[in-house]
Amino acid sequence: MMTKQLTERQKAKWINPLIDRDDFQCFYCTGKFGKNSYVFDHLNDNPHDNRFDNLVLAHQSCNVRKGFYGEYQVIAREKLRKNEAENFLAEWEREQKHSTHKETSDEADLNKTIIKTSKQFLIQELLSQMGHEPRRDEILMKEAIECVCYLVQQETGRGSHTAVQRHLETLTCVISKEFARKEVNGKKYIIRREGL
Ligand SMILES: [Zn+2]
Repeated sequence: MMTKQLTERQKAKWINPLIDRDDFQCFYCTGKFGKNSYVFDHLNDNPHDNRFDNLVLAHQSCNVRKGFYGEYQVIAREKLRKNEAENFLAEWEREQKHSTHKETSDEADLNKTIIKTSKQFLIQELLSQMGHEPRRDEILMKEAIECVCYLVQQETGRGSHTAVQRHLETLTCVISKEFARKEVNGKKYIIRREGL
């Protein structure tokens, strides 16, 4: 089997779980690191055994010192046994995936609320309701953004002007069946499509 040194890519991938597991400190002397002053130490001294469990962060000097310092070799062997029993990386990766997924679905929910609220607001202001005349023929884009943003924030506690603006622009795009935009004296308005 071909074996190789730890790659930069593996280092970049494992630095965060290593810090979460052991803190950002030298495994051997527990001292702090200066900028870029750490190395990936192989607990069993086999530089080709690049399993996550076989790695700790250490000062370069402590990594070298371990070669002739029995006490460091003992704690290295104990740490390797502990890591192998713990299986930290699998659990860590599961948690990462879970939190990323949660963020994405929260974002999707917020988008849905913005779209729903924007539509309701434009329908209520610009379209005729149950035989009544429409409330008005046009609405300032700026006003629509502020109102929809307010309504979304009341419902979700979140929602930015930028996000609301993006959705209002989508709802009033040139192929929208219900709404359109016009610009008068540099001011943007939202209007009914039928009025065109
Ligand atoms: Zn050290």
